[in-house]
Amino acid sequence: MLFGVRRHPRIGCYQQRKWPWKSTSTHATSGISRRSQRLHTSSTKAHIIFSGIQPTGVPHLGNYLGALQQWARLQNEASPSTQLLYSIVDLHAITINQDADQLRRWKRETLATLLAVGLDPERSTIFYQSAVPEHTELMWILSCTASVGHLSRMTQWKSKLALSDEVSALDSTSAKARLKLGLFSYPVLQAADILLYGATHVPVGEDQAQHLEFARQCADQFNTVHGEILVKPQTVLSSAKRVMSLKEPRLKMSKSHQDLRSRIQINDGAEIIGDKIRLALTDSITGVSYDPEHRPGVSNLLAIMSYFDEEGRTAEELAQACKSLSMRQFKATATKAISESLASTRDKYNRIMNHDETHYLDDIATEGSNKARRQADKTMAAVRQVIGLERAGRA
Ligand code: ATP
Ligand code: MG
Repeated sequence: MLFGVRRHPRIGCYQQRKWPWKSTSTHATSGISRRSQRLHTSSTKAHIIFSGIQPTGVPHLGNYLGALQQWARLQNEASPSTQLLYSIVDLHAITINQDADQLRRWKRETLATLLAVGLDPERSTIFYQSAVPEHTELMWILSCTASVGHLSRMTQWKSKLALSDEVSALDSTSAKARLKLGLFSYPVLQAADILLYGATHVPVGEDQAQHLEFARQCADQFNTVHGEILVKPQTVLSSAKRVMSLKEPRLKMSKSHQDLRSRIQINDGAEIIGDKIRLALTDSITGVSYDPEHRPGVSNLLAIMSYFDEEGRTAEELAQACKSLSMRQFKATATKAISESLASTRDKYNRIMNHDETHYLDDIATEGSNKARRQADKTMAAVRQVIGLERAGRA
């Protein structure tokens, strides 16, 4: 068995533990997990958990708190009958122009992050989306029943349209015409990602809730025409629904934002975290208080601290504890709390990235895509059959 026999020469020995970076503490699932949404268990049907992350940069605190930490928790708490699939969705990443070498690097960095947060490739299927061509096949099939009206109401598409108006106020028609088809239709690919595996639960940050609603509609529209084939998934939100940007705290933290100082990456060291927090946009009001409306920058830092807080204190309680600190002292406190909370994930990430000379990550991705394809094949056999597209010699 691929993962059972190989041993990384320098990350560490794993005679007892096959994955040396596998978390031995409960840190990765502490704090936030206590307050995160539990899976709805009234159904006796086996759960299938699916989620994805774009390889558009090193994942940041928002990805970690809003999604990845929850992925690891679900894995660690899942019953043996639960299947878990986590995809690095590289086909989504190319909806904006990407340099090929950088994309390759980001894919590996994202995979290393998934292992560093505690995902175990023997338990969870971890794979690159483009290695499973059934994603794009199902996308096309869903495109033939999905409605354009719903797609054009997607917030992310509307914000791109609004941006094109701003960029080219004089000629917004041609600016809109230059927007790419992939940007418009990627929610159909996202629906295919999920429906391909019969996912029952999809853990995501709040920004993806609308796309999940669209995926459920895609399943309905397909099933109405062809019969009950596709499973409608439930959205699972973490309590850290939306971590905000350090530079523009009314916008969410994003990998693709140009300013690196807007986000804390999971591999940032204490000094870099300190610099980013020192430069974070706050305000000149005296003292510390939690008021997302009027003090979005300070409130964002308090919220992040509360997601990590070992004592489970809320942002309001932390504000109370810090109320008489100066902004400089408060930022130093936030730096210490965040840096210490990320330390074990950061160390595991660095060990994996610095010592991957045995193509460890490639092996994990290959094994994961083989497993994912076997699963995808089952759904596609049923889909092709009801449409009349079954392949000669196959079920
Ligand atoms: P990009 O800017 O390229 O879209 P991203 O930072 O939005 O990158 P994604 O790969 O799109 O990251 O999303 C991966 C997961 O992380 C999704 O479940 C998404 O909802 C979640 N997520 C992303 N940003 C945040 C955030 N700021 N707060 C909470 N969850 C987030
Ligand atoms: Mg995103």
